[in-house]
Amino acid sequence: HLAVPLTVALATLLATGTGAPVHRQGNRHKLLLVSFDGFRWNYDQDVDTPHLDAMARDGVKARYMTPAFVTMTSPCHFTLVTGKYIENHGVVHNMFYNTTTKVKLPYHATLGIERWWDNGSVPIWVTAQRQGLKTGSFFYPGGNVTYQGVALTLSRKEGILHNYKNETEWRANIDTVMLWFTEEDLDLVTLYFGEPDSTGHKYGPETQERKEMVQQVDRTVGYLRDSIERNHLSSVLNLIIASDHGMTTVYRNASDLVEFHKFPNFTFRDIEFELLDYGPNGMLLPKAGMLDKVYDALKDAHPKLHVYKKESFPASFHYANNPRITPLLMYSDPGYVINGRINVQFNKGEHGFDNRDMNMKTIFRAMGPSFKSGLEVEPFESVHVYELMCHLLGIKPEPNDGHLSTLLPMLHSEPNPLPSGASTHLPSGA
Ligand SMILES: [Zn+2]
Repeated sequence: HLAVPLTVALATLLATGTGAPVHRQGNRHKLLLVSFDGFRWNYDQDVDTPHLDAMARDGVKARYMTPAFVTMTSPCHFTLVTGKYIENHGVVHNMFYNTTTKVKLPYHATLGIERWWDNGSVPIWVTAQRQGLKTGSFFYPGGNVTYQGVALTLSRKEGILHNYKNETEWRANIDTVMLWFTEEDLDLVTLYFGEPDSTGHKYGPETQERKEMVQQVDRTVGYLRDSIERNHLSSVLNLIIASDHGMTTVYRNASDLVEFHKFPNFTFRDIEFELLDYGPNGMLLPKAGMLDKVYDALKDAHPKLHVYKKESFPASFHYANNPRITPLLMYSDPGYVINGRINVQFNKGEHGFDNRDMNMKTIFRAMGPSFKSGLEVEPFESVHVYELMCHLLGIKPEPNDGHLSTLLPMLHSEPNPLPSGASTHLPSGA
């Protein structure tokens, strides 16, 4: 009677995996990471956001999330997909720059500069693909270049004059991403929206225009959830909605603006390369032998300006210890931007400030088959999101600065089975 159990065992094997390795392959959960740029942590507190509220009831909400420093778009987005502080992933600015050639490229051009992004760290798309998954990026910063020669399965890059606030296009983009999951069978997609950042910059965060844009974001969250339902993805897709940083009002008419051209002992003749006029962040490479002279001229030049030699920059920011950072760097207090040779910054809202400032804090929301419902968690740093995403996808993470244990309490202790139940008894393999 030996043959019977063998037959049963064989039948079980065939039914569960048909020879595939004992992973959750074939029914592993998919993951969609959505970023709404510049969504400050409390933007939902002074305007009705029924869809975000419903998502919090059905999933997990962090009170707020602390972004990495500097609180800039590309650096903070790359932290989300690498789990590394900015000094450790090397995308230290929105702008590509080279202190030798003096080349500086704006944000949109930098999105396509492969060597700016591919500088040693491997983001989650590539890690997932190396482990057999398919990934896509829709406008997400860093998703349009190759890493160590590996390109994403699918990616879209916005045009140079892209209109970031067209709600009709937002819905079309969501429709495309749904097709990527259903027809292209992608496992991971990162989807980026340039709002409410643009509106926050243009009008300021404490304005009616910003509130209306938050309502547009909220309608989009509703459309996204309807789309997930309509495409029968609710039980297979985990959804994370996050952002890169907050926004604060700029003191444009203050009597004490930070203006390099008014500092008495400072001259640009001592400077080899400068990166100024970019919100509250600045970098300087003094000419040979001029470092101490320039530092002495700047260190007490303005009470709202904090200038450091690279090696003395506060380690708690995890920012300066990277070869791309110049010998002098600085940041200004909330509300103050750093003006260089002439004043050219006219935004009413800005970010880039100290990530401890509450106005720089941002959002984290999640829901789906792996997440608990109606759970609000304490604030955490954005470096931890990467480990969570790797866990959700069942892939082995690259070395990083986050810890899975920080966000694991958001999840059901056992992976939720799919309706088919085909492999509920299998070990997760992750
Ligand atoms: Zn941003």
